[in-house]
Amino acid sequence: SPEVKLAVFGRAGVGKSALVVRLLTKRFIWEYDPTLESTYRHQANIDDEMVSMEILDTAGQEDTQQREGHMRWGDGFVIVYDITDRVSFEEVAPLRGLLEEVKKPKHVPLVLIGNKADLEHARQVATEEGERLAADMACAFYECSACSDQGGGVAEAFHELCREVRRR
Ligand code: GDP
Ligand code: MG
Repeated sequence: SPEVKLAVFGRAGVGKSALVVRLLTKRFIWEYDPTLESTYRHQANIDDEMVSMEILDTAGQEDTQQREGHMRWGDGFVIVYDITDRVSFEEVAPLRGLLEEVKKPKHVPLVLIGNKADLEHARQVATEEGERLAADMACAFYECSACSDQGGGVAEAFHELCREVRRR
């Protein structure tokens, strides 16, 4: 079956590990070693085809050289920000810029996730801002919560990324 390599990027603390663990286990884990970098294997039926994913959960504290290595490794990318942390949103565009640079002239399959949508009371980034940024980057956008994951948005985001990779 087809295999895709996906890497998850975003500022430390945005919930990258929680999202990956949610995808793999359908559970939420409150505390996850923030310095840990791991790869996971996951299989899913996407549009009636079994797809094998290898998912790199980055720590978000890498230097540029390490980050570029991760970008060269991946076929597709999830960039995550935290809707309650504006700084994490501001770090999305530079990550996208680096991705473009590393992968050029290739198209970069990408999805944008605004995580922690359960923390509406603490929101610092409007949904429309996420939508606009995703439109600028020509990628799909999901507001998700690794914590509650109502509507299964986490799996949907990863599955859409697999489709985007396979379309190329
Ligand atoms: P990472 O550094 O990007 O891997 O972030 P983690 O997955 O370690 O999560 C950082 C913190 O945010 C942890 O305390 C998590 O429990 C919390 N967290 C992650 N996702 C969510 C979410 O969707 N909702 C809420 N309320 N907390 C979350
Ligand atoms: Mg982590």
